[in-house]
Amino acid sequence: MKPVARNSLLFALSFAVAALATHATAAAPLRVALTFDDSLKDHLLIAAPMLEERGWRGTFCIVTDWIGRDDSRLSWDDIRELVRRGHEIATHTKSHQNLVSLLEKEKGHEVEVRRQIFASADKIAAETGIAPRFLFTPFVQQNDTTARIARELGLRQAEGPRYNFGSNNCDRVATLVADLRANGIERADILTHGVSAADHGGWCPFADRESFRKHLDALAELERKGEIIVTDYDGMVSSCALKAQTWPRHGILSLSFDDTSFDQWEAALPLFAKYDARTTFFVNGTNRIDFMRKALDAGHEIGLHGFNHMDAVETVEERGEDWFWRTDIAPQLDALAAAGIPVSSYAYPNCVHTARTDEMFFSHGFSRVRGRDAAIPNPNPYDPQGESLDQWRPVAETDWLFIPAADFLKARVVPNVIMGESYHTSIEDILRAIERAGWQGEALFVVSHGIEPDAKDISMKTEWLERILSSADDSGILVRGIR
Ligand SMILES: [Zn+2]
Ligand SMILES: [Zn+2]
Repeated sequence: MKPVARNSLLFALSFAVAALATHATAAAPLRVALTFDDSLKDHLLIAAPMLEERGWRGTFCIVTDWIGRDDSRLSWDDIRELVRRGHEIATHTKSHQNLVSLLEKEKGHEVEVRRQIFASADKIAAETGIAPRFLFTPFVQQNDTTARIARELGLRQAEGPRYNFGSNNCDRVATLVADLRANGIERADILTHGVSAADHGGWCPFADRESFRKHLDALAELERKGEIIVTDYDGMVSSCALKAQTWPRHGILSLSFDDTSFDQWEAALPLFAKYDARTTFFVNGTNRIDFMRKALDAGHEIGLHGFNHMDAVETVEERGEDWFWRTDIAPQLDALAAAGIPVSSYAYPNCVHTARTDEMFFSHGFSRVRGRDAAIPNPNPYDPQGESLDQWRPVAETDWLFIPAADFLKARVVPNVIMGESYHTSIEDILRAIERAGWQGEALFVVSHGIEPDAKDISMKTEWLERILSSADDSGILVRGIR
């Protein structure tokens, strides 16, 4: 979606008025979400009770830096009160910056844009105990990049248009609804900032409580006539998505490849590009800096897998941390750093980790490690001869392989399941697991080694990879690496 002008909050009404003559047909009721931006105190004092009188719940879009700033803004106690009364809380960013301008300033680095979204969503989750699901961008300044970042942070970017109501159009909501329905539109985000200029104002406020009340009465009348259904934003999106399936689902597939199959990985880069999918290559040694650069250029990530693929847990036990770090980590880390290859994650060879070894990596500045707790049985154990198939379990039913997508960036240790014939991978099971991640808003962690058409043993068949990427693409699941 292209960025729209700031005035877009107002634009919608001229469109509606132009088509005024059209009559509502017998179309399905319009799903209407009532949204409230900018964390105003009046949203709790005036708007929420009026909504509740009519049996409605609203969606309150919170700018977290503005909470408790002065008497005109909500406090965290106020927001918890809204949650307690069944309203929905969304993020409207940390400090209400124009995200599209920020992206331009940052020249693709996305650091501040991510912080604007993440810091706010995280604060809301910490203060209310409920992670917000939606990002409403300030000034509706948004595009595909802000949508992608939101998804990477476990949120959905609310879609425009947003129909703002205030003193300039306070008596026109019925006109808008008639027009939208006549045009076959299924849902509408009816936005309000200030609900009473006389009290605490806000951007383009209603003149007084009475005119806001009349606005709601008009909506109640439309609902009584079966022309609209008022719900919160989540309800509006969900009820329409059931029919249209157009809304991206809410899951992450974290895909990584280990060891040294550089040529096969290079050959697979176009396949990843075809589906706009990213992965992490956890490499051994330092031989193929050329491949690492190429992978980075294509948007993938490089992680460490040890200079010589030593088992970190065993080696640290036998020779100590210093020896292990000096021998298997530092040589690879230093060579990659010298070559300008950024590295912030490590995958344990043989998968097994301990809290002690994790801490060693974190204390050296690593942000994430991938490893499995030795005490927890692998659902698809390595079993080339098929001697212990009774221990095989479906990945789709193995809960510890999934974490809430909203926690993706916070988790410092992430699990994995390996794909390959020697693990008796069932591609149908993996596709079901991806589907589960989509429906339940989870992140799933899948690993393999090489990638080739007739892959055996511990590697990924090209056909499997293609089915994984296309099914994730179909259901709007984001495919990314470990980072
Ligand atoms: Zn705003
Ligand atoms: Zn390995």
